[in-house]
Amino acid sequence: MNRRFRYCPYCAGAIAEESRFNAVRPVCKSCGFVQFHDPKVAVIALILHEGRVLLVQRAVDPAQGKWSLPGGYMDAGEMPLEALQRELNEEVGLTVEIGRLLDIFPMVSDRGERIGIVLAFEAGPAGSAAIPYVADDVQAAGWYRPEEIPSEIAFDSTRSLLQRWIELESGS
Ligand SMILES: [Zn+2]
Repeated sequence: MNRRFRYCPYCAGAIAEESRFNAVRPVCKSCGFVQFHDPKVAVIALILHEGRVLLVQRAVDPAQGKWSLPGGYMDAGEMPLEALQRELNEEVGLTVEIGRLLDIFPMVSDRGERIGIVLAFEAGPAGSAAIPYVADDVQAAGWYRPEEIPSEIAFDSTRSLLQRWIELESGS
């Protein structure tokens, strides 16, 4: 369950659960504000270079210390490719050429609830593949061949995309 407001963020009035727009939603009794639980949207990239995939080690929860494909949440007003390039700049300082949309995954909370979607794109380095820094919510990053991939992988989306890539690489 998403977190619900207890008081109206606009007028501090009391919030009650009421039927609005075909669902029971938090509604302000004073000003009529309705809290919609909008889906979160994240973008991630399977970035490939010379038979290796770029993985980042997460510095924060969820899944601190585990490895995943780079990416992150979209901000309001961004388009997916802008968000992806921004995240890559923030995390590893890499400029990429973004290719096709590989898949759309459900974003699942620690408690197993669907809270949004993850858009996964194919990408490659636009110039140098050297990783100039790691920052933001990443503590390490590197290029990995299929047989070198760390065992501690975060997120079903990363696991699924890596598995498909490995199967393609091995020709099975
Ligand atoms: Zn209100």
